[in-house]
Amino acid sequence: MKYHLDTIPVWDAYHEDSECPFCILEYNTEQSYVSSFLGASVMEPATRIQVNEKGFCARHNTLLYHAQNRLGLALLTHTHALETIQRINEKNEKLYKSIRSPEKTPQPLIKKISGRQAALQHSLDHLIECIREHLNNCVICDRIQYSLNRYAYTVIHLWENDNDFQEVFRKSKGFCFSHFPLVLNMSAQQLSRKKLTEFLKEALSLQQENLNRLEKELYWFTQKFDYQNQEKPWGNSRDALPRMLQKLTGKIME
Ligand SMILES: [Zn+2]
Ligand SMILES: [Zn+2]
Repeated sequence: MKYHLDTIPVWDAYHEDSECPFCILEYNTEQSYVSSFLGASVMEPATRIQVNEKGFCARHNTLLYHAQNRLGLALLTHTHALETIQRINEKNEKLYKSIRSPEKTPQPLIKKISGRQAALQHSLDHLIECIREHLNNCVICDRIQYSLNRYAYTVIHLWENDNDFQEVFRKSKGFCFSHFPLVLNMSAQQLSRKKLTEFLKEALSLQQENLNRLEKELYWFTQKFDYQNQEKPWGNSRDALPRMLQKLTGKIME
């Protein structure tokens, strides 16, 4: 997929000097999509079609619910529920049929039972797959993923072409494990072999240095609970726990 550059949000995120600039980008993108889905886009036909088909995941339903536009969310949810009910009912019908329908031609009893069981299992698998798909689909997650890919494309482009960015990148704290694969993937797609080797060397050592730093900060956080260390300075350890949690699994602790 071809992406367009979007440099301003990337520079802003890097200027915040966090454990992962992509966590900031994801947070900001998510906030703006949540408010846009409850704003004017509620009534846009193209958006409605997408939401009717896919709906939102549990996390984004929760964020939308707490955004306090109950009528907007109710309108979106109602038409999405209608489509979902219809889709699930179709699978249910097939399942009912396979439970009830007699064999068309007389067959030996054993064959009859195993044939019915296979048909039942088949319909059941379809129903479970349909429900899982319904749970995993989310219009906001899809859009966030697209935006993050676009930001990763921008980071790789800036690293390759902008001297100021290269310096900021080297002094940054790397990425969390949730977003690091995104950057690695994009680097492999966008860079020549020579540049990729250079990028990987830099990115991997940046990652390692910062994990080691954070591990020491977290260790000192635990040591501060010892009464003998009570008077000693915190250093950078006071918020080491939320930063390590962010590093390991992504998402800024709110
Ligand atoms: Zn992150
Ligand atoms: Zn979602």
